[in-house]
Amino acid sequence: MNATLSQRDPRQCRACDNIRGNKTVGKHFDVYECARCKAIFGTCYLGESYVMVKPWMTSENVPPENQRYYDFTTIGSDGIGRRHGWYDVNSGLITQVG
Ligand SMILES: [Zn+2]
Repeated sequence: MNATLSQRDPRQCRACDNIRGNKTVGKHFDVYECARCKAIFGTCYLGESYVMVKPWMTSENVPPENQRYYDFTTIGSDGIGRRHGWYDVNSGLITQVG
């Protein structure tokens, strides 16, 4: 896993570096989903990031195939932040931070 905050092409996946086929996620025009590994990543408001990945951990034992990497640069009232880790695609809950 080579996730970095360094600004490259914003479409470039922060997990696997793929660019080809990556598309924006819904109305989140600076957030992309990787066509290769299905990670979601990009820059958005902190509140928007909570719509995609909730701010809580899951208590379930989520199988790896249902987990995706996420890496958001967030814009909030406290300034620029970062949320990253793994989440459950079914519940939107965090399975692992960082
Ligand atoms: Zn990827």
